[in-house]
Amino acid sequence: MINLPKLQLFLAGRWVDPADGATFVDLNPATEAELAQVAAAGAAEVDAAVAAARAQFEGGEWSRLAGGDRGRLLTRLAEAVEREADHLADLEALDVGKPRAEARFADIPQAIETFHHFAGWADKVQGTTIPLPPLNGRPQLSYTLREPVGVVGAITPWNAPTMIAAWKLAPALAVGCTVVLKPPEDAPLTALRLAELIEEVGFPPGTVSVLPGIGAIAGAALVAHPGVDKVSFTGSPEVGAEIARVAGPALRRVTLELGGKSPQLIFPDADLDALLPTAALSLFANQGEVCAAGTRVLVHESLREEVGERLAAAAAALVVGDPFDPATEMGALVNRRQLERVLAYVEAGHRDGAELLAGGARLERSGFFVEPTVFGGHNQMQIAREEIFGPVGTVIPFADEEEAIRLANETRYGLTAVVWTGSLSRAHRVAAALRVGKVWVNGWGPPDPRLPWGGVKTSGIGRELGVAGLHANTEEKVVSVVL
Ligand code: NAD
Repeated sequence: MINLPKLQLFLAGRWVDPADGATFVDLNPATEAELAQVAAAGAAEVDAAVAAARAQFEGGEWSRLAGGDRGRLLTRLAEAVEREADHLADLEALDVGKPRAEARFADIPQAIETFHHFAGWADKVQGTTIPLPPLNGRPQLSYTLREPVGVVGAITPWNAPTMIAAWKLAPALAVGCTVVLKPPEDAPLTALRLAELIEEVGFPPGTVSVLPGIGAIAGAALVAHPGVDKVSFTGSPEVGAEIARVAGPALRRVTLELGGKSPQLIFPDADLDALLPTAALSLFANQGEVCAAGTRVLVHESLREEVGERLAAAAAALVVGDPFDPATEMGALVNRRQLERVLAYVEAGHRDGAELLAGGARLERSGFFVEPTVFGGHNQMQIAREEIFGPVGTVIPFADEEEAIRLANETRYGLTAVVWTGSLSRAHRVAAALRVGKVWVNGWGPPDPRLPWGGVKTSGIGRELGVAGLHANTEEKVVSVVL
């Protein structure tokens, strides 16, 4: 068994307790037992971490490193995470309640890939030269410099804490920013292990601080801090809006990666046998606690019954239980609040007259387990309009392609969509018509660090990952020279 002592803050290269001695309890959602007492940062620790990050950014050892040297540190970090992959998967499963096999297969490799990918960018952050006509008869040279935005305040959610920490750390560090990371109070363990690895591979002290703490205290202090140049946030639209409200008047840069209510569009020309396992995965992976979960299953009316039955059978067949049992396919929800939220949405489904096709109940055992759940319903129901962030999908019929697109776009969210079709023309036609940040055609999986990631409408502002995510941590300065 993993022995977790009282955990401290990683502040400016040192392991410390907060000045006021505050802690919070981290629970194992699969057993409801206490996992660890974790130090909770307050405004004083945020202040000290931002000051250390600023000192490294403005003239510190970090600011003097060449891109290649930053890249080598990131590569060493990727290799350390790779070495520690088993342990990190254990921590992720303990903290989040997800199957340990899923963490080992998806979350941790994605984090490793993200560090490797952005390590390669560190010495390739380039501006451009722009040809201009002569000015008053004299030739001109204009070029741009991509400069790091400065101190990044990074705030992460609990559903994929290792992977999303890597999404924030890797591109910011690659371009030369410094980072103060506030991990989620429900799942701080892997971020603290990452902090130990950051220390081990030799990032200059203060380049990265990791400050677990309560969102409304440590998170809010980071967002409001005048020494933070950019806030990179992943979480709920409600907290995202609060961050925008605070950062707006200060004209602080923000990237907001928020929720989703993503559609899967199943057309009559799709290969049902091939798609159904992945369609079910996109509903139930990570207990449905996935921002890109395909929770609105829009299906041609001729297939509504068959798809409903087969998704219900897939749900009923899923092995739900102990995250550390290799046979487990779905684990526990992250906490009691999330459990109650999911069960309340099941109630809302019943109230709105949705047809329960599978699941719908809490498991009779300790831990926050619910059955994978499938409803038949329509797009106006509360379960189809609001993000549940649990293993609940709604199968919704459409009559033709036009209606499918209308229903898919009839939501306040716009993160992702999946198009299931055998027609190349339809795939591209529908992909172009969907108002989302990412369209999958005949597949679904975690974001790839090489591709930009983010949403439109309530799903967020800006992009992380890909070249866009790299550039989101920079400012483009123009230099114009009259020769
Ligand atoms: P949350 O918004 O409750 O918390 C996210 C983080 O914000 C936590 O670290 C929390 O401590 C912090 N926080 C809370 N209040 C704060 C405040 N006032 N100021 C600053 N920080 C504060 O979200 P959650 O419940 O952890 O995560 C679930 C949400 O995240 C869902 O809506 C989900 O869709 C979204 N999500 C989005 C993506 C994406 O890439 N778009 C990925 C994963 C999760």
